[in-house]
Amino acid sequence: GGKAHIHQAGHLWGLDTEAVQTKLPGEYGKIVIGPAGENLVRYACVLSQERVAGRCGAGAVMGSKNLKAIIAFGAAQVAAANPPALAKLTKRWTAALRANAMTGEALPKYGTVGFLAKGYKAGFVPVKNFSQPQFDQAHEFTGEGYARDLLTRNTGCVGCPIRCGRKQMEGEKEIKGPEYETAGLLGPNLLNASFKRVGHWNYLADRLGLDTISLGGTLGFAMELKERGLADLGVDFVDLDSIPQIIEDIALRRGHGDELANGSAWLAKKYGGLDFAPQVKGMEMAAYDPRRSVGLGLGYATSNRGACHLNGGYMIFLEAMGPMSINPQSPRSKPALTMMMQNLMEAISASGVCLFTSMAVFPNALYNMAPGSRMRRLISRIMSRSGRVVQLLNSRPRLAAINLSLIPYPQALALATGMNMNLGRFLELGERGYNLERLYNLREGLRGKDELPKRMVSEPQDPQRPETIV
Ligand code: SF4
Repeated sequence: GGKAHIHQAGHLWGLDTEAVQTKLPGEYGKIVIGPAGENLVRYACVLSQERVAGRCGAGAVMGSKNLKAIIAFGAAQVAAANPPALAKLTKRWTAALRANAMTGEALPKYGTVGFLAKGYKAGFVPVKNFSQPQFDQAHEFTGEGYARDLLTRNTGCVGCPIRCGRKQMEGEKEIKGPEYETAGLLGPNLLNASFKRVGHWNYLADRLGLDTISLGGTLGFAMELKERGLADLGVDFVDLDSIPQIIEDIALRRGHGDELANGSAWLAKKYGGLDFAPQVKGMEMAAYDPRRSVGLGLGYATSNRGACHLNGGYMIFLEAMGPMSINPQSPRSKPALTMMMQNLMEAISASGVCLFTSMAVFPNALYNMAPGSRMRRLISRIMSRSGRVVQLLNSRPRLAAINLSLIPYPQALALATGMNMNLGRFLELGERGYNLERLYNLREGLRGKDELPKRMVSEPQDPQRPETIV
């Protein structure tokens, strides 16, 4: 058993996340907050190296306890239940990730900003606070353009074969490049087509300890408040030069930043505009307009922590972003599929594996199929009619007492822990975790109905296409 110690760290208070990590001993095992967490910004995040646990204001929770950092270290080994078999499976799995069109090629090459091109085509990239269907400067703002003009190299979390992280230069310094969510919400969502700007704002937000999804959602909403004459919070769709100052003001709760630090739901209560505040239960939406992925809309509405694409089940991948398209405008089979995806994502996260590995669940044959090919349409049609079968599995997951090589998580978990595990049990543990999370959040004060903002359910995203609505 390890020991925990609490140390005085007054000399670290006020430092940004980069400076505090440099001052703390060791290279790995640190979780820190920046000034935003100290100042209880509602969407303050926690960081470990460059990686961010962004959502839900975990940074403010640490800040409220005067906890600047947590460091863990030691030399104890974690013994696997079956080391040789686990090593063999890991080797096979790593090779499969490297060979997959998404995890072995697209993500390492373009990172998640590569999703932008698909997003423009499918129409799910948020533009001008989710108020427009198309971004006029889309051609200037793509993952391919980023790779060509700014990318210095790709990078990744410890031991990851995918390496979806980006690096770019800012002056003489190499900094972290943005991910899709950040690019979407600080880019088209604010009518900004400059990756240089997004890179700078992203770096600033990381150092100050702000979640870039909620930051972009809150800024976009405040800009629309200004445009409609409801409130002037110092931000405007036509003046992007003030953004770095505003980001700093938010983290330090200065001037208008003090109110912007409370997020879009709080602003809507004070100034109006709840119908177009891009949030659910007080948390801002990720960079996917649910009117182009109604399953994701259901996921946003029912997620345990507000409008989170991942906790919501990431249905966008089945509906519009992945290798198939289960009619993104139709609700058919979506309740069952959303529930299954929420449970599956929960189980994968609980296993400690990165969710991006799940993109390799789809074989290359599917990724390589022509978009309109008969086979792809057939698969999409079968999936869109799968609701009853999926619902049966949702209610009786143990019927799936099988292991599939394309879904290696249950087997890996069994070999690592010795647990009796298969796909059905894995889904069951996902559901258990999901429900527990909900109960915990309700006990701690989660409020609000499972519903989307009115704009999403009453205002077609594309006025020419009435079906673009949840
Ligand atoms: S672990 Fe996940 S987030 Fe980290 S580099 Fe790999 S794919 Fe990217």
